[in-house]
Amino acid sequence: MRFATIIHQRQFEVVVERDGSLFRLPQLDSQQPRSLKSLITHWDEWQPLLEQATLTDSSFKESNVRFAPPIPNPGKIICVGLNYADHAKETGAEVPALPVIFNKFPSALNAHQQPIFLPSISNQVDYEGELVVVIGRRGRFVSEADAMKHVFGYCCGHDVSARDWQKGKPGGQWLLGKTFDTFAPCGPYVTTANEINRPDQLDIELRLNGNVMQKSNTSQFIYKLPYLLSHLSKFCTLEPGDLIFTGTPSGVGVARNPPVFLKPGDQVEVEIEGLGILRNPVLNDPAESEMMLASQHAS
Ligand code: ZN
Repeated sequence: MRFATIIHQRQFEVVVERDGSLFRLPQLDSQQPRSLKSLITHWDEWQPLLEQATLTDSSFKESNVRFAPPIPNPGKIICVGLNYADHAKETGAEVPALPVIFNKFPSALNAHQQPIFLPSISNQVDYEGELVVVIGRRGRFVSEADAMKHVFGYCCGHDVSARDWQKGKPGGQWLLGKTFDTFAPCGPYVTTANEINRPDQLDIELRLNGNVMQKSNTSQFIYKLPYLLSHLSKFCTLEPGDLIFTGTPSGVGVARNPPVFLKPGDQVEVEIEGLGILRNPVLNDPAESEMMLASQHAS
């Protein structure tokens, strides 16, 4: 099954995608799921009801709905750095002995078709197409053998990265460069794990203004998903709706000669086999533009 969260009458609504149509959730029981996170949390109860239900209300169309991030309120967004052999090589980084782990705040989440805002305090905003794992089952100290049972599904993700705030900062912290508002587009859909037979063999591609900039396959992962989930669960409880960005392949802008950074008017697409296309325009941050105008009037 494939789910999206849309904004309808100023509220989030979970919809099911089937053959290009979007269906409202049927009436399941008195405790109708109000968010994808709650649907995932109670998946054992709701999955059989949903599978038996007939989907009839297709009043939304993909072309005219406003998408929200599939999970607008995750407890955690965990990211893996340098997880593709080809990307580690292009950055000149040693293949790390342990995975590089960092995070983004939920305020960085962004939806399909919504703009990535370029902050005025960076002039090195780069793209990173990534497979995102959505956690289903709660777990701590999960073994590698059991790890994949904790996956609800997958979606396309974009780990937008301000290189000038990521690299060379005090303590080597990447956080600020990675967590500007709008820097974590996800979606448009979460596809359930049972529909993705081999998450370790998915083609992944990122296009900038139609040009292919990244093209790889998740078979290039240095750290495979069972290891990553097991490793992370040694530190923190994996909870339903948590998002894990699994790293990006080669072809990022900063490693190019000359470097390529995002600019207003760009269009970025992340496409992953079986998961669809996540598309985002790039704009200057309008909130900052307003502030700049206001300060010019003041002076
Ligand atoms: Zn990344």
